[in-house]
Amino acid sequence: MDGESRDSGISRDPPPANGASQMSDEGALREKAREMIQAGQLPDRRPDRTWGGPGVGADCTICRVPVKRDEVEFEIEFTRSGDNPGLDTYQFHIRCFAAWEFERQNLELAGGAILERPTETLP
Ligand SMILES: [Zn+2]
Repeated sequence: MDGESRDSGISRDPPPANGASQMSDEGALREKAREMIQAGQLPDRRPDRTWGGPGVGADCTICRVPVKRDEVEFEIEFTRSGDNPGLDTYQFHIRCFAAWEFERQNLELAGGAILERPTETLP
């Protein structure tokens, strides 16, 4: 029985080291943000107001993790008009805000046919 010697030249492939299967946090956040925009859970337009400040423990809209007091919280506000006027506000971590911004602009560029843009009111 020298079957062992037959396999001696073949070594197992080592598991891939940190390959493409490992998704970065940033990638995961962008994907979540995009899903939420497409599902209508997040707006796809520029916010009417944006604030940044210390966190107050409110849940982040995208990752659902509270923004802690020692972290920067971004809050964005949308003025709703139409049948049910009002204000929509969302809280984000700074990195989640960046992910949403990135995807929003991506979709805007990819969409091409934006029918109406909000008129820009700069202070
Ligand atoms: Zn977050």
